[in-house]
Amino acid sequence: MNYRLGLHSIIGISYTSGRYLPPSKTRSSSVWFAKRSFRAKTGMEKAVESKFSEAMMVVVDDPQSLENKKAAIRDAGPGKLQVIVDFDATLTKYWVNGRRGQSSHNLLQQSNPEYDTKRHQLFEYYHPLEFSPTIPIEEKAKLMEEWWGKTHALLIEGGLTYDDIKKSVANATLEFRDGVVELFTYLEKRDVPVLIFSAGLGDIIEEVLRQKLHKSFKNVKIVSNRMIFDHDGHLVSFRGKTIHVLNKNEHAIDVAAPLHDQFGGIDSSTDDSDSVKKRTNVLLLGDHLGDLGMSDGLNYENRITVGFLNNDDGNSLEIYRKAFDFVYLNDAPMWGVVKLVAEIC
Ligand SMILES: [Mg+2]
Repeated sequence: MNYRLGLHSIIGISYTSGRYLPPSKTRSSSVWFAKRSFRAKTGMEKAVESKFSEAMMVVVDDPQSLENKKAAIRDAGPGKLQVIVDFDATLTKYWVNGRRGQSSHNLLQQSNPEYDTKRHQLFEYYHPLEFSPTIPIEEKAKLMEEWWGKTHALLIEGGLTYDDIKKSVANATLEFRDGVVELFTYLEKRDVPVLIFSAGLGDIIEEVLRQKLHKSFKNVKIVSNRMIFDHDGHLVSFRGKTIHVLNKNEHAIDVAAPLHDQFGGIDSSTDDSDSVKKRTNVLLLGDHLGDLGMSDGLNYENRITVGFLNNDDGNSLEIYRKAFDFVYLNDAPMWGVVKLVAEIC
């Protein structure tokens, strides 16, 4: 492969290479660059290499179909677009300083550690059931409901306070992908709503946004499990229907109403879910195949999907590249999505 090609053609190669090159070719190209690093590189080589390594992280299975969708979304304008995004390992990094990043659920430390142990015991029991190939889906959904219910009950019984959440987030191994702030900022300027869908804990996600992004966005809404605190700041109950890993996508758009405002309260403007339904072009970001269902309940016209394949076991890329329009590899930053959004807005 000729590294002296212009930057645009290299990006072009990355798109088509998703179609024609098997993953093994992609890997061997990475090795090729590693071998070249024994001598000092010129500035141009460095620029090309950095662009090229960015290109290596993305796979597009069908560039023509993607271009058609991009054109349709661009022509309809930002007023028709919404972004639906998963939280854990999609907005956040999979690896943080060599350690597995924490999810909004498992970062939580209660002031009574006995309850952390109890929740962990539930995890050890139910987590293998979640991935069991032999349990029928309805039965599994019941088990997940049971797991979430018991976990929520332990949070209440253990006397969780909002202060515990703040401290847990401050101590968490969790970072947003580079480019998330720029993505949200770009979309906010164009009044494009961002719905964060999560089977985790919405109050924790809010606190993570507050502490780690240092900025609030009026276009970002969270659809997740919401806590109710008493006057002393103790958790007393959860609001509405439990959102667990298997029903996250069920009427997800309907669950979005009533929406909570930026940091906790109920948004009094009831037309949000209507306007969300009128936005029939969707950009969807997720890290699981199941995240593709986040736009269920919406009669979208055009949808571009981006999948983050964070930890390829060697078998998933072929499935992901057929399922998502873009597949980002190696815990990639959000810059490619920022570029995409600039192209379609
Ligand atoms: Mg996720």
